[in-house]
Amino acid sequence: MLLENERNLIVEYGKMMSASGLTSGTSGNISIYVPEKGMMAISPSGIGYFDTKPEDVVIMDLDSNIIDGIRKPSSEWALHSEMYKRKPDCRSVVHTHSMYCTVFASLNQPLSAVHYVLADAGVASVPCAPYRTFGTVELAQVAGEYIGEGNAVLLANHGMLACGGSIKSAYGLANGLEYCAELEYRTRAIGKPVVLDDEEMANIIERFKTYGQVSRTEG
Ligand code: 13P
Ligand code: ZN
Repeated sequence: MLLENERNLIVEYGKMMSASGLTSGTSGNISIYVPEKGMMAISPSGIGYFDTKPEDVVIMDLDSNIIDGIRKPSSEWALHSEMYKRKPDCRSVVHTHSMYCTVFASLNQPLSAVHYVLADAGVASVPCAPYRTFGTVELAQVAGEYIGEGNAVLLANHGMLACGGSIKSAYGLANGLEYCAELEYRTRAIGKPVVLDDEEMANIIERFKTYGQVSRTEG
């Protein structure tokens, strides 16, 4: 089976994403890009994560062509392709409708640095791209513009998207930003959170490059 390892990873992380409550029903989607082959493996459209099997995962190139697969690919294939085209180091994209990120996205507001772990996004604040209809090239375009040099973007009235050097890091970022969004929501509910300044966030971004046991792009 073409990109068998990547297909298995998409099934595994899809189940984790669903079980952890990061997304519900068939919302959200996951992909992994293999630049040597110019192909991405992407979750199928509208199939529950616990029903998805490796053969349901679709293999596409970045020009909208299906290379292999029996299913219709995620409606957000253009959104995923756009990230790989714009970001040379991106190897995986995780898109979710996780609750607290979507609260801020529905206010059309960015996520602020109320906690230092937001620096995992590579920026001091996670921007919110303006609303566009799901599954369109227009959504892919604004998401690409607003994500800029960072690794994550909110999608207005829709959800969030995280990029990573591996599926583990893209998923970890989606999870971490949901934590930050919940924290920001809770702190704003009872007061005015102290937001870390750009200089400290730049410091944290540097420190994260050597944090932990392995390279964050490979881990
Ligand atoms: P798919 O099931 O087509 O991946 O769509 C889910 C989604 O989140 C659309 O934005
Ligand atoms: Zn979506």
